[in-house]
Amino acid sequence: MKKEVIFKVKGKFVNKYKSGYPLISKEAILNLNEAVEEGTIIRLVDEKNKFIAKGYFGKQNKGYGWVLSRSENEQIDQRFFLNKMRDAIKYREPFYNSTDTNAFRIVNGEGDGLGGLTIEYFDGYYLINWYSKGIYHFRDYIINALKELTKFKAIYHKKRFDVSGKYIEDDDFVTGERGTFPIIVKENGVDFAVYLNESAMVGVFLDQRDVRRKIRDAYADGKNVLNTFSYTGAFSVFAALGGAIKTTSVDVANRSLSKTIEQFRLNGLDIESQDIIVEDVFNYFKYAVKKQLRFDMVILDPPSFARSKKMVFSGEKDYKNLLKEAIAITKDQGIIVASANSSSFNMNKFKSFIDQAFKETNRTYQLVDEFSLPKDFKSIKEFSEGNYLKVVFIKNLP
Ligand code: SAH
Repeated sequence: MKKEVIFKVKGKFVNKYKSGYPLISKEAILNLNEAVEEGTIIRLVDEKNKFIAKGYFGKQNKGYGWVLSRSENEQIDQRFFLNKMRDAIKYREPFYNSTDTNAFRIVNGEGDGLGGLTIEYFDGYYLINWYSKGIYHFRDYIINALKELTKFKAIYHKKRFDVSGKYIEDDDFVTGERGTFPIIVKENGVDFAVYLNESAMVGVFLDQRDVRRKIRDAYADGKNVLNTFSYTGAFSVFAALGGAIKTTSVDVANRSLSKTIEQFRLNGLDIESQDIIVEDVFNYFKYAVKKQLRFDMVILDPPSFARSKKMVFSGEKDYKNLLKEAIAITKDQGIIVASANSSSFNMNKFKSFIDQAFKETNRTYQLVDEFSLPKDFKSIKEFSEGNYLKVVFIKNLP
C-alpha cells in the first residue's frame, strides 16, 4: 500500500470535519495537491498536525475525495469495506424482504460512509457506480465484500469517472452469470425493464419511488396528465395505473419513444390512449399554449446540471421559467409536480423559485405534498447537499 499523504485543514474548517463533514474540498485544505495519485489515503490534520480523520483522494465534480474514518488506527482494508457494506445492507433489510419491490439502493455514497460509490440492487443483480478513479482503486475490496455478503446473479458496474462519456466496456459486466436484458424488476407491484449493459441510465431512477407511488395512489385518478422530461415514462405508467384518463409523455431523446412503449406494454396498459412525443419540452409548451391545451397534472423532472451538458436547471431563473411555462397549461385546481435534483440549492430556495413563478404569473398556489430522498438513499445531516432531491406537489389556484 502507498504511503499516506497529509492534508492540513484550515482552522475555520477543523470543527466541521471533526463533527462529521465527509467531503475533502479545496477551500478547506491548506496544502491541497491535485497531483496526488487517485486512491491515496489522505490524513486530515489540523494546523498543529493533530489527527482529524482519514479518507482517500479521488477527484470528482464534487471535490477531492471523501473521509472514510475518524479513528486514527483504523486501516482502510478489506475488513473496513466489509464492515461498512454489512451495515449498509443491514439497513436495507426491509427492502430485501419486500414482496412488491425488488429494485433499491444498498450503498448511497457518503450516506453510508463510502463517498464516491453507489450500489443498487435489481432483482438479484447488483450495479456499482464508481464516481472517481480514487474509489475504483478499492474495487477489489468492494467487489469481494459484495461477494461475501450477498447472493447475486451477477455484478455490473459503471465507471462514471470516465469523462469520455463511454462508460461501456465489455458490456459493464464484472462477475457472476451475465443477464439477458432487459431484466424485469418490480417497484410497488409495477414492472420496469432494466438494462444494466447499456448506458449509465439503466431504465429507472430509483430515487423517485415514493413520488411515483403517491401519484398513482392519491393523485392520478380521472386526470389528464402531462409528463415532461419523461425518459422511459415511469411517472406516466404510474399515473395510468392510478386511473389517469390520458397521459402525455414528452422527451427530446429518440430512445424515449420505444422505451416508454415498452414500459406501458409491460404493465398491460393500452398505449393507444397515451401520447408519447419526442420533442424539446419548450417547443411542446409553446404548442400546448397555441392549441389551448390544459392539463389536470403537469410533472416536471428536468435533468440537473450534472446529468446533461445541454440543459442547465441549476439556477433560480431556469427553474422559475420552467414553472411559469407549466402554470400556463395547468388547469385551475390542477397539480404541478415539480422535481429538482441539483445539489446546488436546497428545499427552501426551491420553494422561493416556486413562489416567484406564481407571483410573476399573478396566481396563487398551495403546497400539498413534499418529498426528498427515499429511505434507501441514506443521507447524513452533516452533509445536507447529499439529500439532493426536492419534489413538491403544488396546487394551481387562480
Ligand atoms: N422523469 C424521468 C427521468 C428524467 S431524466 C423518469 O422519471 O424516469 C431527464 C430526461 O430529460 C432525459 O430523458 C433527457 O432526454 C430529457 N431532456 C433533457 N432536455 C430535454 C428537453 N429540452 N426537452 C425534452 N426532454 C429533455
